[in-house]
Amino acid sequence: MDPWLAKAVILAAGIAMFVIRAPHGSRSYGLKVARSGKGRREVFLLTLAWIGFFVPLIWAVSPIFSVADYPLRLGPLLAGVVCLVVGLWFFHRSHVDLGTNWSITLEVRENHQLVTHGVYRSVRHPMYAAIFLYAVGQVLVVPNWLAGPSYLIAIAILFAFRVGAEEQMMLETFGDEYEAYMSKTKRLVPGVW
Ligand code: SAH
Repeated sequence: MDPWLAKAVILAAGIAMFVIRAPHGSRSYGLKVARSGKGRREVFLLTLAWIGFFVPLIWAVSPIFSVADYPLRLGPLLAGVVCLVVGLWFFHRSHVDLGTNWSITLEVRENHQLVTHGVYRSVRHPMYAAIFLYAVGQVLVVPNWLAGPSYLIAIAILFAFRVGAEEQMMLETFGDEYEAYMSKTKRLVPGVW
């Protein structure tokens, strides 16, 4: 199969990510930060995530990574589209449920509310779960050994180094309320982990 379809899918999915996030981002950026966990490690992790996110988009519009291309097959393409669509849907829902409590980095805002409803009812990190699903979709859709897994690797590193610090920050901010929430929920997959 000609990879143009995969390129079109990846560009559309990347644009959808921006479109979903933009209104939530602009609403929360103006709010005062009460507690920030943004240090050098966070800057490094965010930079890595941005690079991982943009590599497939660059692959889609330029021949720069073509040395690592392999043939596109219909089965993985279709499975990947399903992962991308479901991932984007949960990305949207987690932004709606988190509202202005969302931050791109580790931050607690003034009047920060602990969200435990909607997609936050059974897992503590539905947005990261959504991004993982999206990144798996990208592995399946992009027939390239570099651009396919770049976002999944970056997100896995970000998650591994951030999730403990994020939960610690939430525990310090919300105390018993977060502890009770932790006891009722899993991290990423409902009922599993
Ligand atoms: N880890 C969450 C949120 C990612 S956005 C998810 O994957 O869905 C990161 C910011 O969200 C953190 O800085 C923290 O302030 C905030 N946050 C995380 N969990 C939250 C919750 N249950 N309620 C309110 N804010 C939360």
